[in-house]
Amino acid sequence: MPDRLPPLHRVIAALVGLVLLVALGSRARSPDPDTVRIGSVIRSARPVMGTLLEISIWAPTGSEPAAADAALQALLEVTALEKRISSWDSQSKTSEINLAAGAEAVAVGPALEELVSDSLDWARRTEGAFDFTGGPLFELWEQAREKEALPAESEIRARLQLVGYEKVQLRNGTIRLTVPGMKIGFGAVGKGFAADRVAQSLRSSGFPDFIIDVGGDLVIGGKRGDTPWNIAIRHPRRGSHLATIATTDCAITTSGDYERYFTVDDVRYSHIIDPRSGWPARGLTSVTVIAPRGIDADALTTAISVMGVDAGLNLVESIPDVEALMVEEDGSMHLSTGLQMAKGFLTRLQ
Ligand code: AMP
Ligand code: MG
Repeated sequence: MPDRLPPLHRVIAALVGLVLLVALGSRARSPDPDTVRIGSVIRSARPVMGTLLEISIWAPTGSEPAAADAALQALLEVTALEKRISSWDSQSKTSEINLAAGAEAVAVGPALEELVSDSLDWARRTEGAFDFTGGPLFELWEQAREKEALPAESEIRARLQLVGYEKVQLRNGTIRLTVPGMKIGFGAVGKGFAADRVAQSLRSSGFPDFIIDVGGDLVIGGKRGDTPWNIAIRHPRRGSHLATIATTDCAITTSGDYERYFTVDDVRYSHIIDPRSGWPARGLTSVTVIAPRGIDADALTTAISVMGVDAGLNLVESIPDVEALMVEEDGSMHLSTGLQMAKGFLTRLQ
């Protein structure tokens, strides 16, 4: 071997250096290690709000690095939002409001003001079937689920005294809970609200084509290239898909008793509670709502689970651009008029 060739260890060192450079270079272009590219779709995921937030962006060729940056930016915004609105985080504004219940009003930022304002609106429109002040009651039923034993009726009655959206004052950017012991929380709308915020963020970054999935609550923007996005709705009991919907620009949310429940004497108790009676909702196994915004779809799925088929359908039919699909415990299915007419879009309906 001619001695002009570099020794083997130098060749290896150079190769390792080259590989590292390539790796660092691609890392720099793709800032989030959880970002992957599937064809023309850039997908990023991160745990938020006790679930997984997944962002899929349709990125035309050449825009992939910018799409990955846009996804990361949106994920960071949602993480910051969660810190402010979560009732589980003792440092959040929501916890500050709950601690001040019965005492002073708390000044809040625009995001929380909007969330409370929208939540009050849905509480009024559903006559309290959706009620974000149900915290004391929901906690009681969480404990019941852990113990797999029903709470005492006297305890339910005591907690009901602390529930009621009409006991919330929202004034000039401040929120006050008027009764000591009251607790607000956004378990039923936080995911939809967060998805709306992600959608806003992606659009303002110049990416209007996306699917945002916050633990099954979807906000859909634009198209997948030339075709609408195809969305699968899961079957509440069978684990398979109930239907697929081809759609653009809307939110789709499903609530159901298959997610979190417990059973006592063969009766299934849902994690969705009727804030008026204090008892878990009965009758509907799954409710899917399609609406323009995530927060609306999310509030409505929870509310309709409480209201039942007839009142739920009446409400949906009275709101433009909102559709619903409901499945009862016996498996019977109900579609709002718009979905019945759009049966061509609903395939594999079982
Ligand atoms: P979702 O899965 O969107 O229906 O939200 C369910 C969660 O919202 C529960 O885990 C409770 O924390 C809370 N919740 C239960 N029932 C209601 C209700 N009637 N109104 C508002 N929030 C509720
Ligand atoms: Mg909901």
